[in-house]
Amino acid sequence: MSSGLAPYAVTPENSRGRVHSEPPPKHRSEFQRDRDRVIHSGAFRRLEYKTQVFVNHEGDLYRTRLTHSLEVAQIARTVARAMGLNEDLTEAISLAHDLGHTPFGHAGQDALNHCMRDFGGFEHNLQSLRVVDELEHRYAAFPGLNLTFETREGILKHCSLANARKLAELGQRFIDRQQPSLEAQLANLADEIAYNNHDVDDGLRSGLIELSELAQVPLFADQLAIVRRNHVGIDARMQTHEVVRGMIGALVNDLISTSQARVTQLEPHSIDDIRSHRSPLIGFSEPLAEAQRALKQFLREQLYRHPKVKRMTERAEEIVTTLFARFSADFDRMPAEHAERARAAHDEHGEAGSARAVADYIAGMTDRFALQAIEALGEGS
Ligand code: MG
Repeated sequence: MSSGLAPYAVTPENSRGRVHSEPPPKHRSEFQRDRDRVIHSGAFRRLEYKTQVFVNHEGDLYRTRLTHSLEVAQIARTVARAMGLNEDLTEAISLAHDLGHTPFGHAGQDALNHCMRDFGGFEHNLQSLRVVDELEHRYAAFPGLNLTFETREGILKHCSLANARKLAELGQRFIDRQQPSLEAQLANLADEIAYNNHDVDDGLRSGLIELSELAQVPLFADQLAIVRRNHVGIDARMQTHEVVRGMIGALVNDLISTSQARVTQLEPHSIDDIRSHRSPLIGFSEPLAEAQRALKQFLREQLYRHPKVKRMTERAEEIVTTLFARFSADFDRMPAEHAERARAAHDEHGEAGSARAVADYIAGMTDRFALQAIEALGEGS
């Protein structure tokens, strides 16, 4: 085929298109256009000041959601190109996948989910979709960014059945138990590779985890042995760089060879064959999947539940919960635009409507903006 893409890759020709139809771009593909719209969005710029594990003001060396998203895109593009898949689409999905994240990483999302428990909950995948479908206001002709079906499908990694039923075409695959495109599947796994490895790197740099502890984790230990053999006498920092690079390489190579073997065996002829397959085709071999699970478990126990991280987590939950309560009790504590939105949503959908508007406002905050907001309420401590 002329595009050089595999017959089961997503292409502009087999795309289900955009909700609001637009003339095709002149010098870009439809998915390059999606990627560019994501990069020019306000939510994308705010990723610079949002964190995953470490709160942003703790140091400039740690990953932010922005650098995380760039790392995901870099890994995903490598896999896409190696497998003849649509690199532009997988890049657009990767760069957009965390747009809906709250301030303060998972702690912020858990707290907001708890605040929203009577109003449909809060889920970051769904919020990323809300950002690109509704919350960005940059185009006169339509709300949101009007991205293609395939980019939106990739952003919505998980979804409850209740939410799927409200999402029409986009929710249908969760009801039918179908798969998304291979490009979406691989963006999802590139996300895992990226965060596991940068959390190892950031964890070591912060001193919250030790090299000797990590040396008990097989994936790390294997690469450490190789590095020690090949580079005698390098310092600990360089050793970490080499080991992390080695782990990413091992995971990416395994992902490509395992996924390619599965695809070759299935012989899909079109994107429909991918969607209707009973399980995802992109994945790791069993030994590497197991090694990755062990690494995840290590990070959960030693890093994410570290007393220092827990203290930050608790403070983050407190901030988000307080902001939600204060804004819900008095919309005018929010900027006029958001207060208006909350009032209009309350008129239309009652408390559930205004709660969603308040959640949208809080979710859009960066870590430091949320800290300023809580101080402005006189709740800083
Ligand atoms: Mg992510």
